[in-house]
Amino acid sequence: MTRPIIVQKFGGTSIADVERIKNVAKRVVRTKREGFDVVAVVSALGDSTDRLIELAHQITGHPSERELDMLLSTGEQVSCALLAMAIHELGEDAISFTGAQVGIITDNSFTKARIIDINAKRMVEALKTGRIIIVAGFQGLSLSQDITTLGRGGSNLTAVALAKVLGAKTCEMCTDVEGVFTADPRIVKNARKIDRISYDEMFELSSLGAQVLQPRSIEFAMKFEVPIHVRSSFSDKMGTIISKEVKAMEDIVVSGVALNKEEAKVTICDVPDKPGIAAKIFKDIALADINVDMIVQNVSRTGATDISFTVPDPDLNKTIKAAKEISKKVGAGEITYDKDMAKVSIVGIGMRSHSGVAAKMFEALAEKGINIEMISTSEIKISCVVEKKNGEEAVRAIHDKFGLGKKKS
Ligand code: ASP
Ligand code: MG
Repeated sequence: MTRPIIVQKFGGTSIADVERIKNVAKRVVRTKREGFDVVAVVSALGDSTDRLIELAHQITGHPSERELDMLLSTGEQVSCALLAMAIHELGEDAISFTGAQVGIITDNSFTKARIIDINAKRMVEALKTGRIIIVAGFQGLSLSQDITTLGRGGSNLTAVALAKVLGAKTCEMCTDVEGVFTADPRIVKNARKIDRISYDEMFELSSLGAQVLQPRSIEFAMKFEVPIHVRSSFSDKMGTIISKEVKAMEDIVVSGVALNKEEAKVTICDVPDKPGIAAKIFKDIALADINVDMIVQNVSRTGATDISFTVPDPDLNKTIKAAKEISKKVGAGEITYDKDMAKVSIVGIGMRSHSGVAAKMFEALAEKGINIEMISTSEIKISCVVEKKNGEEAVRAIHDKFGLGKKKS
């Protein structure tokens, strides 16, 4: 009889030093002895990926992306070999593989490659012989046989993709937190661990700033319905299950509150209020490779209007430059901007069937005297842009208002 497969992914902090690597080895072995075939996917040790990037930048301000991937992929190669050795010490058979060795084929976009295909043959054979498989996360091999990486946090994607091709029972994301919380526990003291959440909500929460999982890996898991279990690598406690939506989830109006402090707001003043102008503006912004988030256009009374939008902080300078050129081109006025903005968002699939959710969120902010600069909504989320200095207080106020915290006992 074939044994059920579990994919376990360990992030950098879970294997930051030798003691932790040994602990992870124990955990993997325990899972194997409980009756599972185990495929462990590892990140680079601690923050060694950051170290490697720094190193590259000490050599050049513009490292070649191909060489960067060659460099960064070594981080994961170190940890998978060490984990395999630690498992050998515990008397189990384990074998480590790079992304290329387990047949992860990607496109040619260095530093943010997409997985095209996985040839699972070698893994399946190794599992058949009773071995534990350790895979270097975050990397693959391009169609032209070059080593590629999958973008920061990409080991999550490796884990989910392997879980899918192997038909794993679950993909466990073992990390330094106990699961997904209703808000960042460093900001909200009584934030609560969520037991179960839908892919959609998790995707929104991570895209909006909750840094538990890389959004791309959730997208992938959702598409192929790979069940994910986010849990602590330091304890056996149940964490958060991310799965397909089930009926009971709809009763929860708001699942979580997210904060993104990396927002900047840019306004193009006195834009002629004519058809086609917005199209022109945002086409040029896109051509400058700037990702616009929220857009607000004020009502025009005079034939000219102000258009404000938000961009990620690091893109502010190039956005201002682009906006100035665009303004000249379309006959608009001055460009104003504010670097210190934050976006607070609430997410919940229950919003679809409950009304008054937005009003309640705005009320929470009003009660603290926090001004809302921009608002955007979708079916399952509401976001408000506020001044950065008010961001954390806004999260606490909203979290409280919706009663998301642990009940006082
Ligand atoms: N080591 C890579 C990073 O730090 C990939 C990962 O950890 O998932 O982004
Ligand atoms: Mg900012």
